[in-house]
Amino acid sequence: QAKADGRGSYACYAREMDQLAHDNMQLHTHLKEAIAQNRLQLHYQPQVNVVTGKIVGAEALLRWFDPLLGSIPPARFIPVAEATGLILPLSAWVLETACQQIAAWTQAGTPLCVAVNFSAQQFRQADLSVKISQILARTGAQAQWLDIEVTESMAMEQPEQARAQLEALVAMGCRVALDDFGTGYSSLAYLKMLPIHKLKIDKSFMDGIPSDASDAAISRAIIALAKSLGMELIAEGVETDAQLAFLRQYGCQTYQGWLFAKAMAASDLSAMLRAESGSMPH
Ligand code: C2E
Ligand code: MG
Ligand code: MG
Ligand code: MG
Repeated sequence: QAKADGRGSYACYAREMDQLAHDNMQLHTHLKEAIAQNRLQLHYQPQVNVVTGKIVGAEALLRWFDPLLGSIPPARFIPVAEATGLILPLSAWVLETACQQIAAWTQAGTPLCVAVNFSAQQFRQADLSVKISQILARTGAQAQWLDIEVTESMAMEQPEQARAQLEALVAMGCRVALDDFGTGYSSLAYLKMLPIHKLKIDKSFMDGIPSDASDAAISRAIIALAKSLGMELIAEGVETDAQLAFLRQYGCQTYQGWLFAKAMAASDLSAMLRAESGSMPH
């Protein structure tokens, strides 16, 4: 009986693995096609000053709607892109598109800081900073408006390489944000060693605020840490007024979350920026 159960669940597991491999292959095929046909979109989620309520930046987030498969979240297709090598052409497209948008917002008189998510494989490209300076030159974007988002695991995997890459980008004028802070394995010694300008407090800590005492304590500790290291703070995943009040109370400068807005098309954010700056739409 036990043996039969064991075999049964193994067969079931094997079938699930086959299914998963098949799904990923199908996803890979569709993603490759979507990239080739330029069917992916880059949306922008505002980053807002907690005191003034003004938009101070935006994070660029990939969106993919496939006519056959429907809407596929980045958490599903980024890992497939990373496993199949598609991440490099995809990331190049993201950077180019974000820089075009930076240039467009600068020209429109509503310049905005845009944060782009980086993948570990991009950091293994020896000519990364050359590629980025070419994109900046081609699009007319100024480096001061481009934020590079990296995660702790990316930074800690190969700290020396990460440091060299980041320093080259910082020398060009970009700034660096550490994403999902508090969820990875970061060594505080490396944190000091790397050129990091901003810490992003992960959404998982925001989720428990204000009711969960340990989430609140961790968030306060991250805010204190960033302040003593002279870094800016961005809280991710802010959904409620109570969370915003907490951030104000403890001196976190910036937040990003559905309370203000979800990621949106560039044209929608342009309209918000124009409304804020008080100029007439054109
Ligand atoms: P991330 O960089 O940590 O991005 C923040 C995620 O939190 C986004 O999910 C955003 O839509 C979501 N979010 C923001 N505010 C709220 C909120 O108030 N409530 C909730 N429930 N969610 C909120 P998204 O767009 O699904 O992206 C997921 C992850 O995919 C990103 O996490 C990032 O790691 C990755 N990703 C997205 N775009 C790119 C890209 O262009 N390149 C790379 N390498 N990764 C990307
Ligand atoms: Mg991010
Ligand atoms: Mg994040
Ligand atoms: Mg995240």
